[in-house]
Amino acid sequence: MKGMSKIIRYFQDPNSKDISRYMEMISSLDSFVSKQVDTDKSRLNGEIECSYYDYLKGCKLSLESREPTEVFEEISELFKGTVRWNYPGTMININPPANLPAAAAGSYTMLINPNFAQDMLTGNLIKSELETCKYLAELAGWDWEDSHGVFTFGGKSTVMYAVKVGLQKCSQDISKNGIKGDIFVVSTSQGHPCHAEVCDWLGIGKSNCLKLPVDDNGRMLIEESEKIISERIKKGGILACILANGGTTLQLTVDPIKEVVEMRDRLAEKFSLNYLPHVHVDSVIGWTWLFFENYDFNRNTLSFDAKVLSKIRSMYLRISQITYADSFAADFHKTGFCPYTSSVFMSRDKAQIFKLGDVHPIELDELEYGNYSPFQYTMELSRAGTGPISALTTLKCFGYEGFQKVIGSLMTVGEYIKDSLKKNCEFEVINDKTEGFVTLFIIKQPGENLKYNDISDMDSESAAGIAEYIYHFFLYLIDKQAKGECSISLEYSEGYDVTKSGVKIGVLKAFPMSPLANKENMTGIIKELFDLKMEYDKCRDDFSPYEVLHRPRAFVCR
Ligand SMILES: *Cc1c(COP(=O)(O)O)cnc(C)c1O
Repeated sequence: MKGMSKIIRYFQDPNSKDISRYMEMISSLDSFVSKQVDTDKSRLNGEIECSYYDYLKGCKLSLESREPTEVFEEISELFKGTVRWNYPGTMININPPANLPAAAAGSYTMLINPNFAQDMLTGNLIKSELETCKYLAELAGWDWEDSHGVFTFGGKSTVMYAVKVGLQKCSQDISKNGIKGDIFVVSTSQGHPCHAEVCDWLGIGKSNCLKLPVDDNGRMLIEESEKIISERIKKGGILACILANGGTTLQLTVDPIKEVVEMRDRLAEKFSLNYLPHVHVDSVIGWTWLFFENYDFNRNTLSFDAKVLSKIRSMYLRISQITYADSFAADFHKTGFCPYTSSVFMSRDKAQIFKLGDVHPIELDELEYGNYSPFQYTMELSRAGTGPISALTTLKCFGYEGFQKVIGSLMTVGEYIKDSLKKNCEFEVINDKTEGFVTLFIIKQPGENLKYNDISDMDSESAAGIAEYIYHFFLYLIDKQAKGECSISLEYSEGYDVTKSGVKIGVLKAFPMSPLANKENMTGIIKELFDLKMEYDKCRDDFSPYEVLHRPRAFVCR
């Protein structure tokens, strides 16, 4: 065909092992993007065009093919303003920097392009999924030979797998005939919003995802919950799945997993259920604390500070009860420092996973090249191999100790942030007790003698004044960031609390996620935060945000 020579150069030559053109392309893109990198900023430089409409109006696809370098230069514009997750002052969310070996192995895998629908399309590569799942089962204290797991497109879909398993347990013919009867699912008031959203997607309905009550530490209140569930069952309700927390996003709250399982057993007996309601632990964040299994907390070989050590230990003891659950999940793209997306759903009983697709279970000793076909029971047909490869690479590179160090470092930095903020009376940390590394705090006007807990009793006008003061400081930070005058990125939760008079109080959040953060570089970052607060107080009356990177209201709170 005429003129093919240019387009075939966009593919790897089958007669050559030389991939230098691929490597050059990566270097070429980097040469444009890295121009925007400022090593002491939390985002890549460059103006972000605010209106997508204006941008789209100017977009037109060319008829003729173009040179990759030319396209890369253009594409590099899109990297402007992206977040540098490795920068210690980037504290926006549970969003990690991708570790280099995982990113390298993941992108190289993209070049090979295996399809993890089934082993025939991957060669040996699909072993990475089986092997990662074996390690996860062992971390949970399960018999790896009885359990099974699947990689899927996100933490949200791990919850979808859990609820789907719950559905098939409570209703034998559901895959054929669909949902019949008053099926419900339970989570807690601290559960991730996706628990209810998944119930929507699966046709159960958000209002049939009950939010069970919690104690002062955010953990499921077993007695009250048992009553609520019993009432619903008495009225004909069918409990498909209990979604317990295995480390919530902000406070790292873990529900009393063993007690949850015991409650499930009591309910099944009391109502003579002909099935056991499924117990899933949403541990997409908390699973990495399982790596402390073999940590000698007495000798404390990694020399964690006493407070950090005690928080890690108590978190480990809670999450290790995952062993009693029927399923749990791990997001390698959160506390596993992998590129997106790399999520695993793990079931203690492997038969439950095969049943998702009505597939006859294959015994482990019969599982061999040629018959491993996850597409038969996963939500996906074509499935990327990047998640399992990055996960396995990370597990092997880090080892147990690497995870202990990285998690220990986040915890140490988290405590350091809390301690530093506490030294400034215009800042108040409001989650000192939590076992997590996220710091929630508010700021106060100079000379104001107020405690966070007092806000709740204030009249609505005073409370609204305080709420606005905190919110505007957040906008001030974003504004400074957009102008390149501030290196820190924090997060804000609107409506974290509601006062008795009905005013929503937002709080500031700092999620240290970079393993390269330490006390030394955090000292400078916290000083910058204090200075910014002083500046804000000076110009507050004249400040009106004119350039906002994102409107936090829209997506921080659902
Ligand atoms: C992030 C998160 C989810 C959703 O996971 P994605 O990977 O973002 O889809 C679910 N539950 C908890 C507790 C989370 O932190």
